[in-house]
Amino acid sequence: MVRPLGYRSCWSMPILSYQGQVLGTFALYSREPGTPSAEQIDLISMAAHLAGIAIERRQSEERIQFMAHHDALTGLPNRVLFDERVASALQQARMTGHWVALAFLDLDNFKLINDTLGHHAGDELLRVVAGRMLACVRKSDMIVRVGGDEFIILLNSLPPESSVMLARLEAIRAAIGAPVVLAGRSIQVSCSMGVVCYPDHGETTTELLANADSAMYRAKEVGRNNLQVFDAQMAAKAHEKLRRHEELRDAVASGEFVLHYQPQMNLKTGRIFAAESLLRWQHRERGLISPGEFIPLAEETGLIVPIGDWVLNEACRQNKAWQDAGLPPIVVSVNVSARQFKERNWVSRVAAALEESGLEACYLELELTESLIMQDVTSAVATMHELEALGVHLAIDDFGTGYSSLSALKSFPVRRLKIDRSFLVQDIPGDADDQAITGAIISLAQKLQMHVIAEGVETQEQVDFLRASGCDDIQGYFFSRPVGPAAFVSLLLQ
Ligand code: C2E
Ligand code: MG
Ligand code: MG
Repeated sequence: MVRPLGYRSCWSMPILSYQGQVLGTFALYSREPGTPSAEQIDLISMAAHLAGIAIERRQSEERIQFMAHHDALTGLPNRVLFDERVASALQQARMTGHWVALAFLDLDNFKLINDTLGHHAGDELLRVVAGRMLACVRKSDMIVRVGGDEFIILLNSLPPESSVMLARLEAIRAAIGAPVVLAGRSIQVSCSMGVVCYPDHGETTTELLANADSAMYRAKEVGRNNLQVFDAQMAAKAHEKLRRHEELRDAVASGEFVLHYQPQMNLKTGRIFAAESLLRWQHRERGLISPGEFIPLAEETGLIVPIGDWVLNEACRQNKAWQDAGLPPIVVSVNVSARQFKERNWVSRVAAALEESGLEACYLELELTESLIMQDVTSAVATMHELEALGVHLAIDDFGTGYSSLSALKSFPVRRLKIDRSFLVQDIPGDADDQAITGAIISLAQKLQMHVIAEGVETQEQVDFLRASGCDDIQGYFFSRPVGPAAFVSLLLQ
């Protein structure tokens, strides 16, 4: 190649990395045929060595830079780069009058895929999804991974009309929804999106992202697999929620909770043998608030853990105090939320509550729901066995409303099923189907040597039907509403 230019010899000296990889080469051409002298070789060896160090250093700087700004799994940019990019996108939009869209994106049921197909499949899915999203956007747009299965999409320089923005985001949703082969299986995932656009939904990145988060929350709330654009109502709701969360947190700190007790009666003896503890919030202004109004929030925010601990300890303490006062001993049952049950040291917390109150374990019953157990049957059954070993009794609450597999049911160490009140029709003889279900649950429990209690029993007709069907126990307004501790003592004495 160089001959026409008058060169007659060529010498090449590799530039090697520390580990001996070729990073480049020094090529020396000469107009005279021959090899370099020893002196020349020394010189280029030294130059190649120095160049090697410089190149390697530059490469590792670039790698560090890349790693600092990108997610290792998907190769997508990360939050650091994103923040810079959004700032400049907004600035540009201010001048051009274009729109900028920001969308939070969260894969639906990603945890399920991870749990069932394994983490490798989960990682692969994230890579596939990242690739599909990238294929849908332009170079000036950006996609970042901000958490396990959460992404943010930034669409730049959009014409100021929502139809364009929505069409492009819907295209991304559609791309993600196409089948993926993972661990030899073809599966489909959906995603939820919360969307905001500049300038309509906020001035700053912080404000926009907070609003996108509210929109995402709404998307999850309406059942996932959809896209929600932010509106002012969402902001008001998010604000209200934050306020309620703070109020609830203060209530935990200042001990504004009380327990009411609802007696459980045996149908044969007519005696009270147990009571369910039901939480009430004694609010300074609003009075007594029922758990349906604050437990969902407590579960969502994790406050259910300290609240549940309080309930457990208070119920044990109260029951022991009744026994110490000479009242006939009864079982107290405590509702357990999934969040609490999954706490690592949950079993030892139960043991500590018994220890501290001095209550014998056989006087404590824990009510678990079917959905709590079914979230992770294997580990739930293991925890149930540990609790059983303490001597505590277990019951399944709201039975019939969840998705217990009947074959799993026989492996649960539970003593009681509580038939949900939705199966008790108001005016028995009423709905034949509900009656049939109630009857079937009762005989199923009998076959599995479990007790059955019907909750929400309100009428004499219901009592008669339950007795005829062989139900052991009842709980409900028919006998008594949940009442405060003092009123409960008089019930017990009667
Ligand atoms: P649950 O455990 O199924 O409790 C039974 C609910 O049915 C109670 O509502 C009770 O007052 C109500 N009830 C009882 N008898 C009747 C009746 O004859 N008719 C009707 N219509 N209702 C009846 P409450 O006290 O509002 O509690 C609602 C739910 O809140 C409970 O359902 C339970 O899931 C949850 N909860 C209550 N206390 C706690 C607690 O300390 N911890 C946790 N994690 N959840 C709790
Ligand atoms: Mg209950
Ligand atoms: Mg119930």
